[in-house]
Amino acid sequence: MIGIGSLKKKPELHTRYPLSSILIYNGATVAHYVLGGTGIILGYGPWIGYLLGSLYMMFSFWEMYVHMPLKVCCNCVYYKLGDSLCVSGLNLVSRKIAKEGSVKAFSNRAKGSLCPNNLYIASLVFPIVVIVPALILSFSLLVLVILIVLVGLLLFRFFVIFPKIACVHCRAQNICPQAQSMGFGKKT
Ligand code: SF4
Repeated sequence: MIGIGSLKKKPELHTRYPLSSILIYNGATVAHYVLGGTGIILGYGPWIGYLLGSLYMMFSFWEMYVHMPLKVCCNCVYYKLGDSLCVSGLNLVSRKIAKEGSVKAFSNRAKGSLCPNNLYIASLVFPIVVIVPALILSFSLLVLVILIVLVGLLLFRFFVIFPKIACVHCRAQNICPQAQSMGFGKKT
């Protein structure tokens, strides 16, 4: 007898993600960093806000668009696959700025307290954590709206982008700790 589970179609793995996925992934990422920085600046005002907000934006863009391609993407299957385009497009950046690494080293992204995975999560959570005390010290409706949008973007990333757009179709899911923690790919 064929069970209902076996009738379910396995999600297709993308060698080249559609443009819509790349736009959603990068749009949500850039919006998060810019809104996060803006919320910190508005929440704390001059000069602490300007300093903290600008440092946050510099760190988050560096972490995502320079550090990731240098340390993580060079070990990813998307770096090696011909004519490939991953969900962020960072495999193309990595090929330009980093030497090809080893797929065996890919899981290092989750090793150590300052590992790329933790820095990535920190760049998303930091503004949310920092804006809350600013609101308590001096309430602003605009900053509150920014905080709500940031929380929405974070939930959208974890409950829509990762499971329905990115990791579910990723060819690195068998070796990626993040995809495996969501139940995709084989456990290593
Ligand atoms: S799938 Fe992830 S690790 Fe691989 S190249 Fe793209 S961003 Fe980098």
